[in-house]
Amino acid sequence: MKGVQRAATRTGEAGFTLMELVVAVFIVAVMAAVVTPHLLGIGQNAESNACEQNQRMIRAALSEYYLIYHNYPQGTADEQLKTLKDAKLIESIPEEPSGGHYQITETDGEVEVSCDVHGELPKSKS
Ligand SMILES: [Zn+2]
Repeated sequence: MKGVQRAATRTGEAGFTLMELVVAVFIVAVMAAVVTPHLLGIGQNAESNACEQNQRMIRAALSEYYLIYHNYPQGTADEQLKTLKDAKLIESIPEEPSGGHYQITETDGEVEVSCDVHGELPKSKS
């Protein structure tokens, strides 16, 4: 009887009460809920921006290639990017920041660069 009482007292002094734990877990959960979407949004924005820069770079290199050779590189997008790199119009083959792939399509002499994650960027600007 005496031993049980002493154990209970010691637990109360050394550890956390259930209420304290519940409050702590609740605070952490609220912070995570507030912070996580914000961080995800920032990450997506950064990837989208990086993708847009890559697409601009590919478009500029394609235009330059066209001025030099009077046609666009042939083959798949990967082969076309390699052609641009071999022609020293891009320093390295750009990696899609979200793990997607770039697509280069040519219709009626107009070349379009897009990616299978973000589509064509910039979206609404001319
Ligand atoms: Zn992309």
